[in-house]
Amino acid sequence: MEETKNFIEEIIDADLAEGKIEKIHTRFPPEPNGYLHIGHCKALAIDFGTAKKYGGLCNLRMDDTNPAKEDTEYVDAIKEDIHWLGFDWDDRFFYGSDYFDKDYEYAIELINKGLAYVCELTADQMEKYRGDLTHPATSPWRDRPIEESLDLFKRMKDGEFPDGKYTLRAKIDLASGNFWLRDPVIYRIKHMHHHRHGDKWCIYPTYDFAHPIQDALEGITHSLCSLEFEIHRPLYNWVIENVSVPHKPRQIEFARLNITNTVLSKRFLRLMVESGRVDGWDDPRMPTLCGLRRRGYTGASIVDFCSRVGVAKANSLVDIRLLEACIRDELNETAPRRIAILEPIKVIVDNYPDGKEEIFELPNHPQHPEMGTRKVKFTKEIFIDAEDFALVPPPKFFRLKPDGEVRLMGAYIVKCGDIVMNDDGSVKEIHCSADLETGNGNPVDGRKIKGTIHWLSQENAIDSDVVLYENLLTLEDPSKLPDDKEFTDYLNPDSKKIKRAKVEANLAEAKAGDKFQFVRLGYFCRDTKNENTFNSIVSLKDSKGK
Ligand code: ATP
Ligand code: MG
Repeated sequence: MEETKNFIEEIIDADLAEGKIEKIHTRFPPEPNGYLHIGHCKALAIDFGTAKKYGGLCNLRMDDTNPAKEDTEYVDAIKEDIHWLGFDWDDRFFYGSDYFDKDYEYAIELINKGLAYVCELTADQMEKYRGDLTHPATSPWRDRPIEESLDLFKRMKDGEFPDGKYTLRAKIDLASGNFWLRDPVIYRIKHMHHHRHGDKWCIYPTYDFAHPIQDALEGITHSLCSLEFEIHRPLYNWVIENVSVPHKPRQIEFARLNITNTVLSKRFLRLMVESGRVDGWDDPRMPTLCGLRRRGYTGASIVDFCSRVGVAKANSLVDIRLLEACIRDELNETAPRRIAILEPIKVIVDNYPDGKEEIFELPNHPQHPEMGTRKVKFTKEIFIDAEDFALVPPPKFFRLKPDGEVRLMGAYIVKCGDIVMNDDGSVKEIHCSADLETGNGNPVDGRKIKGTIHWLSQENAIDSDVVLYENLLTLEDPSKLPDDKEFTDYLNPDSKKIKRAKVEANLAEAKAGDKFQFVRLGYFCRDTKNENTFNSIVSLKDSKGK
């Protein structure tokens, strides 16, 4: 089968064919001001994936140009998440701020070439002087002599002026239809401590000026980024053309990943954490990589998802069920089967001898005998799930009901007898009789038993918390947020429900992160933080329209 190439690969093929480049070199430039989310995985898969496919290299570069919010906690978490997804930067780990000296030199070069000048407009004035589509911007300091700009810029660097007093602006085109080219600010005065450079600098380059320089200094050939940077590309190219950098990288934009019922923005995710609406960045409901990992997603399933989404130039909204399908497909193959009873009701098998125990062997995976079996005990008192019993059964209810018969999975057929109620009208316990002759086979008299339910012997059950998760947001398309609403107006009140469940005793030995299929329920992962807790990962089937 002929492999189809995405549009980025087509550009790269052409660049290689024309001899513009010999070896692909990309980079992933996260800003260390929060944890990575699944949208970043798309960018990672494109940056690292494309480099790998072409036998090239990909750098990891912390974009810490802006001194405001960076934190080493985030740097470490970002590295951990990228490794977890299976990508590696080897020894090519950089900080954008490592190039501050170079940025400064290139700014001086621009001033010397008459391509940058020190401006005295305040932020408000600059807004006023911006012009509009029919009127060019005005800039009263544009013709400041080179010597004067050089002098002022050096004094800005030396800390002589307060924040906002001056800016350095690139001299490009005040009449450009692209507002980013109307003499954009490329340096600002900010008396701020930088987490890596302390108080060495009190002027900082803007992202639009620093980023192309960083790419060029690292020998990046293709600077792949999301679509919102498209409008900045002419400025990116202008910087590359006008300062004497050693390489000429090329920026290519791709569509951002958007997922139904999910907001992929660090600002919103931080708000959720800081307002206590979720239990931290790694809350299993969060679309962060650490949240998805804790929920029970594997790195491979998320990378698989990104490759199924593909690389396109136009923005689109991807159904979250596609992500769920990726982990379901993987766990269906790999997860050992176990039994959990989310809402236990006690069943007493009256005709089963007191104190007797029988052991049934259950397969760990029905399609993979090599995964072995486990021993499940049968005794007189067992648990079944409240959902598998109906006092007043609806039509076609094939589970346990008054006078009805049902098969206990892998064990006896039982018939419902006396039902003992609590004072509040709930079922306290159910008495049954077992067809002891039939054992695990079909009834000897040929009668048909339609339903099979799961069960656990009291002797083989331990208590455990099972946490059922749903989407955090009820708003399907986050781009359609009404003007008068906030995302927090759409929080799903049922996004987390804790069940005090009974689970197979052998699950006491499960390790944090171990994943299982709880039969007839779905896939679950042993939580990494809370003792004896399992997180729901995904249901057994796609519940379309639920
Ligand atoms: P956020 O909007 O969540 O704050 P960001 O773009 O500010 O994200 P960065 O740390 O700057 O976060 O992102 C690093 C890279 O990841 C950028 O190149 C950006 O284009 C890319 N990226 C971020 N979000 C997405 C997304 N939803 N889909 C694809 N790529 C993304
Ligand atoms: Mg960013």
